[in-house]
Amino acid sequence: MINNHIANNKTDNKKIAIIGGGIAGASIALYLTEIGLKVDLFEKGTSLVNGPPICHLHAGGNLYREIPDDQCVTLLHESIESLRLYPDSVDYRPTVIAIPKQDPGQPLDLLPRLTLLQNEYQSLIDQDAANQVLGKASDYYRLFELEELQALALLDEQKIPKTAEQWMIPFAKHTDLSALKFPVVLVQEFGWNVFRLGATAALSLEKNELGKVHLNSKVVKIEQISGVQNNNKQWLVTHEEEGLQSTDSFDYLINAAGFRTGEIDDLAGFHRQRLVEFKAAYVTKWQGTEGLWPEVIFHGQRGTPEGMAQFTPYADNLVQLHGMTDEITLFDNGLVTSSEESAQPKLNEQFIRKIDKGWLAQEIEVRGQRAIDHLARYIPAFKHAVVEGKPLFGAQQIPGEDANLRAAGVSFEGNNYARCEIVKASSVLTCADALTEELAELGFVDRKSVGERLFPITHSISDLDITTRSELYTQQRGYPIALAYRNIKQQ
Ligand SMILES: Cc1cc2nc3c(=O)[nH]c(=O)nc-3n(C[C@H](O)[C@H](O)[C@H](O)COP(=O)(O)OP(=O)(O)OC[C@H]3O[C@@H](n4cnc5c(N)ncnc54)[C@H](O)[C@@H]3O)c2cc1C
Repeated sequence: MINNHIANNKTDNKKIAIIGGGIAGASIALYLTEIGLKVDLFEKGTSLVNGPPICHLHAGGNLYREIPDDQCVTLLHESIESLRLYPDSVDYRPTVIAIPKQDPGQPLDLLPRLTLLQNEYQSLIDQDAANQVLGKASDYYRLFELEELQALALLDEQKIPKTAEQWMIPFAKHTDLSALKFPVVLVQEFGWNVFRLGATAALSLEKNELGKVHLNSKVVKIEQISGVQNNNKQWLVTHEEEGLQSTDSFDYLINAAGFRTGEIDDLAGFHRQRLVEFKAAYVTKWQGTEGLWPEVIFHGQRGTPEGMAQFTPYADNLVQLHGMTDEITLFDNGLVTSSEESAQPKLNEQFIRKIDKGWLAQEIEVRGQRAIDHLARYIPAFKHAVVEGKPLFGAQQIPGEDANLRAAGVSFEGNNYARCEIVKASSVLTCADALTEELAELGFVDRKSVGERLFPITHSISDLDITTRSELYTQQRGYPIALAYRNIKQQ
């Protein structure tokens, strides 16, 4: 069935299409509808925010030693804004950053950046007290020397730690401190829950009559034509649902197709250099210890057998693991680049098979067990953990040629076409601001809406509704239900 209809092109009735309902497309749809624009969101999957995982907020980029300070500052700003938009999707627990003895880095090398971020955080609070979402700026980070950790190791672990010292007790008790350099850092880097994010965005869009979400709807063709009035350009978007194609016209097109952004660029006839990387994190179950753990990062050189080990605690003793080696989180040939002929980097078939059809049981067990062994080198009791089902995994886009880029955003092409290509989820509001700026320039929306950040509908969604929808998403996607919960809610 072909249903071509050309929209009535009034300035106050502009129609925007977004291709891709990941965190980028869903958040931008939410932002634009909240400021009064009509948006159609096309997502080929069965639910929103169902792509690669999002587990860390990255409020300061402290998990990445290799990126420049300005990207860390950007990530801090963007994370604070994201946390204010999505407060019920954040797990409010800190992160321990440790440097193993075999690593060439020195703990005190982290200090100038931590101080910079702390000062930056203070100035954001000075500008607007509502920015104080990571605790007091004076508590943004805290250093722990060996002697203090040895003393903490003698104390009881806490079910709900309240102070930096209490958070450190399980780490101090159960980590092989002889394998580490000192001091160790505790920083207010929180967890971010991809299921709760998706639930919040979906519930918000469902309540907003200006947003139309088309699930199971794949965009297969796009074409720009001259509109019926004032010679305005229009985009014809052909989407396919259950084998049936329909075409609708829009005044503006936003490409938020994640690692498939290049496919939409190819359809639109635009070229752009980009990388795509496939990665995986493993879901494990550990009997745990007496108290609640923080996130723990053991730094290491990416792509070597000593690559960073990440321990990310969830509810019900679930722990997600990253190991930045080619045998665990990274993959041989997992990083690919676009070509002269196509803006879409071509991932090897084995990765597309995993994304589209799933993993083989043996692959899950082998890589998951390696992740457990990698982490147990530092937390010996963790060797008793077991792999708990399929990994959190996927491919992500990185615009340009720098595989270490972490803060990226929107780019514009031709007439009324933008891409939102983020590397970290927190960059979405920066993208949305830039887009609104452009839409104000075109007369689609009042300029005062840019950066207004009111989100009345999104903020009316209850924590309980988010939890219920997140539970559904974990079940639909084949993950343990406890991944829908947070250990620590907003304090
Ligand atoms: C292992 C791993 C761990 C990560 N951890 C973190 C983290 O801790 N914190 C963080 O901030 N980021 C993290 N990331 C990165 C993060 O996952 C991505 O930056 C983010 O998901 C990108 O969101 P997106 O909306 O741009 O893309 P996606 O989530 O990929 O969404 C794009 C959507 O477009 C849809 N689509 C594509 N083509 C079409 C079409 N033709 N028609 C209709 N729909 C289409 C897809 O189905 C998809 O749902 C991680 C990534 C990986 C791989």
